[in-house]
Amino acid sequence: MNHPEYEAVIGLEVHAELRTASKIFCSCKTEFGAAPNTQCCPICMGLPGSLPRLNRYAVELAIRAGLALECEIAPRSKFDRKQYFYPDLPKAYQISQNKYPLCRNGRLQIRTAKGVRQIRITRIHMEEDAGKLIHSPDGTRIDYNRSGVGLIEIVSAPDLRSGEEASAYLRALRGILVTAGVSDCRMQEGSMRCDINLSLRRRGEEALGARTEIKNVNSFAFAEKAIQCEILRQSELLARGERVESETRRFDEALGCTVRMRKKESAADYRFLAEPNLPVLCISQEDLLPIRAAMPELPEERRARLCKDYGIAEADAVILTSEPALADYFEASAEHCTDAVKLSHFLLGELLRYCRSDPFRSPVSALRLAELVALWCEERINGTTAKRLLARLVEADFSPEAVAAQENLMQIRDRESLCAMIRAVLADSPKAVEDYRKGKLAALRALQGRLMAVSGGRADPMLGERILLEMLSEEDDEKERACE
Ligand SMILES: [Zn+2]
Repeated sequence: MNHPEYEAVIGLEVHAELRTASKIFCSCKTEFGAAPNTQCCPICMGLPGSLPRLNRYAVELAIRAGLALECEIAPRSKFDRKQYFYPDLPKAYQISQNKYPLCRNGRLQIRTAKGVRQIRITRIHMEEDAGKLIHSPDGTRIDYNRSGVGLIEIVSAPDLRSGEEASAYLRALRGILVTAGVSDCRMQEGSMRCDINLSLRRRGEEALGARTEIKNVNSFAFAEKAIQCEILRQSELLARGERVESETRRFDEALGCTVRMRKKESAADYRFLAEPNLPVLCISQEDLLPIRAAMPELPEERRARLCKDYGIAEADAVILTSEPALADYFEASAEHCTDAVKLSHFLLGELLRYCRSDPFRSPVSALRLAELVALWCEERINGTTAKRLLARLVEADFSPEAVAAQENLMQIRDRESLCAMIRAVLADSPKAVEDYRKGKLAALRALQGRLMAVSGGRADPMLGERILLEMLSEEDDEKERACE
């Protein structure tokens, strides 16, 4: 059921793992997939007497994220202890930034079917990750490899209104963080996770309703789905005159809905305390200069450039630039191809089906794709053959031109051969020819279909149609002459 009288107010808190080789407060490695508890030390295990030391490169990456999201970088920011008890948190507090975060007041542009919107970024702060609980039938084990890995938390203002917008925001954010080298943002490895804050209010009202927080959503599709079903759940409660409880929920992938976890904590529950073992983090304007200078071209700039340089559609450019490796691949391929528009259509429409890896990696080299699309653009092979050859290129590398020639896949474009085939088709299909004369357009399609069948799918469809029409009208003329 839909309740159009309510409007959803959504804010996202995104955790992204910083792409550093070592952890944020010690020199343990951050490699993903190592054997449990092989990448930890007294500092990240929280043993008494150990002292944290801030990873300089982690700060640089966090600043890069801030600059890429047009934030103000605080000249002075501070670390705090966020205190709570949970077995994955060995110190019983997490080092985070509470009142004085590193970055504030940024923004991010999102694009949906409804157009372009600016979403405000309230803050970005640095913190450490917790360990990982591994549940099995014989008990729960803890892996501290992730404990102390550097994170940034990017908090948006409650500016999002739908699951579609939230998903667009996450995609845009991921594109920026990956491009700026801040994070890998591999959602399936947990290096990007998102908490969703969601409340409803009557349209036209300013005050926010009671909100729920959906924790640890780890895919764009789940975020969109979780938001859709949470909007539905809350609107049905409100429509029945019931209250929405302020609580923490999680998205159950199997059930496809959100389920209650616990009553929502407030900031007071965390008893924040200044971290005494880390000094105030001071960033001067001079510190920012080299970081600013080394910033790469970001997705929005690149999108505009791709549209301008290659003449491709904006929607295509948005998809290409959402993934730097994909945009790189497109540009590498476009160097060898004269029709970049057709190339981008073919890449996004056909090749992407074969690319399931994250980050993007193509099973076909950029050069081969360009060669294949060039054959199609020059009308030497038709679209069907191009798709068939692509499916084979995914399996093995070969020259599309050589194979198309060897296997007789090139389009038949010489007039004489086409005329001969069409003459045979017309002689074989008197019924269709007659139907066409009576004005049935479907009969023309049937004749074209016959021509494709006779030519083994290789007849140039445009030229074939032209000759077909010519011959049909010639026959008409002859008949008329015979009658005179
Ligand atoms: Zn350590």
